[in-house]
Amino acid sequence: MTDKNIKEEIEKLRDKIRRHAHLYYVLDKPEIPDAQYDQIFRELQELEKEYPNLVIPDSPTQRVGGEPLKSFKTVTHKTSLLSLDNAFSKQELIDFDRRVKEGLGQEKIEYVGELKIDGLAVTLTYKNGKFVEGSTRGDGVHGEDITQNLRTINTIPLVLNEPIDLEVRGEVYLPYDAFVKINAEREEAGDPKFANPRNAAAGSLRQLDPKVTATRPLDIFIYYGIVPQSKITTHSEVLEYLKDLGFKVNPNIRLCNGIAAVEKYVKDWEEKRENLQYEIDGIVIKVNRLQDQKALGNTSRAPRWAIAFKYPPMQAETTVEDITVQVGRTGAITPVAHLKPTHLAGVVVKRATLHNEDQIKRLDIRVGDQVKIQRAGEVIPEVVEVVKGKRKGDEKVFHMPKRCPVCNGEIERLPGEAVSRCINASCPAQVKERIRHFATREAMDIEHVGPAIVEQLVDKGVISDVADLYSINKETLVTLERLAEKSAQNIIDAIQASKERPFERVLYALGIRHVGRHIATILAQYYPAIEKVMNTSEDDLSKINAIGPKIAASITHFFKQKGNHHLIEKLNAAGVTLKSKESSGPKPLQGKQFVFTGGLKNYSRPDAEELVRGLGGNASSSVSKKTDYVVAGEDPGSKYDKAKKLGVTILTEEEFTKLIKQK
Ligand code: NAD
Repeated sequence: MTDKNIKEEIEKLRDKIRRHAHLYYVLDKPEIPDAQYDQIFRELQELEKEYPNLVIPDSPTQRVGGEPLKSFKTVTHKTSLLSLDNAFSKQELIDFDRRVKEGLGQEKIEYVGELKIDGLAVTLTYKNGKFVEGSTRGDGVHGEDITQNLRTINTIPLVLNEPIDLEVRGEVYLPYDAFVKINAEREEAGDPKFANPRNAAAGSLRQLDPKVTATRPLDIFIYYGIVPQSKITTHSEVLEYLKDLGFKVNPNIRLCNGIAAVEKYVKDWEEKRENLQYEIDGIVIKVNRLQDQKALGNTSRAPRWAIAFKYPPMQAETTVEDITVQVGRTGAITPVAHLKPTHLAGVVVKRATLHNEDQIKRLDIRVGDQVKIQRAGEVIPEVVEVVKGKRKGDEKVFHMPKRCPVCNGEIERLPGEAVSRCINASCPAQVKERIRHFATREAMDIEHVGPAIVEQLVDKGVISDVADLYSINKETLVTLERLAEKSAQNIIDAIQASKERPFERVLYALGIRHVGRHIATILAQYYPAIEKVMNTSEDDLSKINAIGPKIAASITHFFKQKGNHHLIEKLNAAGVTLKSKESSGPKPLQGKQFVFTGGLKNYSRPDAEELVRGLGGNASSSVSKKTDYVVAGEDPGSKYDKAKKLGVTILTEEEFTKLIKQK
């Protein structure tokens, strides 16, 4: 390659990395798997190593993360939050150890091994033992102020056991089960699914509305602290001290004397990681003595005293023994591959989702095929590739059934949709799924009414819709298999208690297609009683910013069904809450759409939005023709220009204050 070619090649790689880093860090919407990104990044690092004169300060290899989003207040970190250098092989670990030993002039180093939690780095500041500020890493120098959102995480102590000033860093993450649930909900609501738990955590934490964050069960592990204690001399002591102060520190940390012990730790967790309830993408190895850390120092991007060992994605090869379909709550038919049981990093996998008909066609998956499966965050693994070279010729092409395997009803696939559906609303599979959904924690929260009970109740003909739950009696329940008197009473009590759930929960629990929790809450704000929702038109619904035509059509379709009218009557007769508690009193901003841009002097963004909601209005993050007011604070962004272009009324902060005071 000529010098010119190399320069071009390097620039090409940089552009590619910049684009993907922006998608990943700023927009939380990666387009390629992490391993692929790491490979491109590595290529650039190698080329820059070979041609050091071509390194520029602006290269992604010299920088951390991505820029902070403008919609949050920007925070300047007191000490930079760096990234970590990566090791992908045993040899690279040994090289790291050699560099550390040479740097310190020591024979053997004590390291701390920690799980590398795949989430989002945050820094938390405490003054006098009180939590005062929290922010994202951003580009390492500037982060986003997400204090209000962090306050919603229960495991972040708001007050410490000692009244000290302190800065700690940790990783906010979303446990697998919460990730799966959120994605199921998003799918139902017609929102795009998160690619993996890391993106779900980042998306949840960087919400402009802390109330949304509060609905996501985020958690945190703290892994670093700048502590004022002079007696503390090692990183492991820092972690112990942080635990004493009230922080949650990961329990799987290990002291490793020398690099051989590190290698063992890395190897142990490669197998054990499958059993964790959260995702890790590697192991972080840190020099234990603080004095040594200081002596080694940092590069512009990462500390020299730590390295991240990255695990390869979890993949395995096995045979597709059969393909069957499952029927969901809305009749959605999902093809599932039944696999020859295989170990995938610690877990025996027997099934993999095939998503839909198109996916099967795209990958050309046939019964009998040898396939590669992968667990990428999802708890149910997916088939990523067919090993075509191993085909024998007797593999069978799968055809979507024409009739529902459960009720023999018709299966339909509407033009433009990827999903096929059983259109018989009383299909037992759908009935069971609908009742299960109704009883879930996020919906009516009916404890003890899990899938097994629902299955029996429906199979025995005790219930055939969600309203029937309210007429079950104890005598019937004790006749169910393995159900003692006490358990039966618990179920009855839980069902009765669910009558008190707020209206928005009931709306969500009904299982209307595309109506997730967020949309249900908005619906309940605009239409505070069930008859109002039932009588609204598709046109009126579409005027609400968050409700697009697809959702509006689905809501009106649901309430057009006679069966659903009957269902609502039954729920009403049972005493289930069918109107908003706050429906009394005037709502002067009813139906008005607000968008805020720029910094406000007297309100935080969430507070201003809350004020608007309290008066019956709605706040959203993007300007459209449906927006009534754009409130422009200091340094308004592109939303201001868009509002001007669309002729939307623009208010200053003072005008906004006047408007809400008048109301
Ligand atoms: P990194 O994830 O490799 O390492 C640094 C981060 O590790 C820290 O900021 C911290 O958040 C985290 N961490 C977790 N546990 C830790 C512990 N115990 N101690 C210290 N730190 C801990 O570096 P990065 O700069 O955050 O991001 C690089 C990662 O992002 C890579 O995995 C890369 O694949 C991925 N990425 C992917 C894309 C894509 O398009 N798919 C784009 C950009 C980056």
